[in-house]
Amino acid sequence: MKCSCGNNPVIIIHKAYCDECFIKYFEREIKKHIKKNKLALKNDKIAVGVSGGKDSLTTAYLLKKYYHDVSAVLIDEGIKGYRPYSKEKAEKYCKEWDIPLHIYSFKEEFGYSLDQLAKKLKINPCSICGVLRRYLLNKKSRELGFDKTATGHNLDDESQAILMNLFANDLQRLSRVGALVGVKEFKNFVVKIKPLRIMSEKEVMTYFLCKGFSTDLRECPYSATAFRLKIRNVLNDYDFKHKGAKINILKFFDKRAEKLKEQARNSSVNVKTCSNCGEHTSGDYCKACTILAKLPEKTN
Ligand code: SF4
Ligand code: ZN
Repeated sequence: MKCSCGNNPVIIIHKAYCDECFIKYFEREIKKHIKKNKLALKNDKIAVGVSGGKDSLTTAYLLKKYYHDVSAVLIDEGIKGYRPYSKEKAEKYCKEWDIPLHIYSFKEEFGYSLDQLAKKLKINPCSICGVLRRYLLNKKSRELGFDKTATGHNLDDESQAILMNLFANDLQRLSRVGALVGVKEFKNFVVKIKPLRIMSEKEVMTYFLCKGFSTDLRECPYSATAFRLKIRNVLNDYDFKHKGAKINILKFFDKRAEKLKEQARNSSVNVKTCSNCGEHTSGDYCKACTILAKLPEKTN
């Protein structure tokens, strides 16, 4: 099978693509997705949350290509044997693509690295990491004056998130999934966008390699403990046998997303201000403050 331009294919998605045609296809689809979902306005100041992996770097690269004011924010959780390498990648590419990079660390912001927090709190590192990373990305993006924060979530991440929330019957969280994240406008919340969510992990990796970029394939040592990993394996297995399962989950959700978001907007769950730090929350304290309050020295 040849690409329609006559070259040998590097990937077969719906049809065969050579590297050049695949790059064009990928960029065209992402542009269409951004436009259709009104993810960003021409003059938006956008902060891309980068980790140094292929997804977030591709997001930064493409947004920089399409918009004037794009920066990157990297949250260094402090994960030994993992974060220093991916941080180095992020620094290298941001410099090469002329994207200003802002770095913040758990250690400086909260007093402890993730490795230390996991030991002290004795809870799953991913539960701490996700909450504190989202907290810092939103807070720092707002303080730096950004209109939007972009993340590198791909189709695999999105379909996993939809299934996980379905399994937990958590409609509030499910309503927060989507191309534009957040169902309520709140002064402390910077709107989140996910430009890559229609592309599978395999497609993003192919694009990254076709562009000649190199990534660090090292996995976070805590990833084996994540519940998401189980869902990922189940979904990969199913998608392998029944092609299109992931994109069908996304399409099924997207058709119903507006209604879900409308219901969530009208629900009794109100967005409030955390009594400790002033960030947004649905309770009296935000999730970050709730986690940090459990540190032994705070409970003594
Ligand atoms: Fe954080 Fe868990 Fe992801 Fe590692 S696997 S970066 S601990 S959320
Ligand atoms: Zn708080």
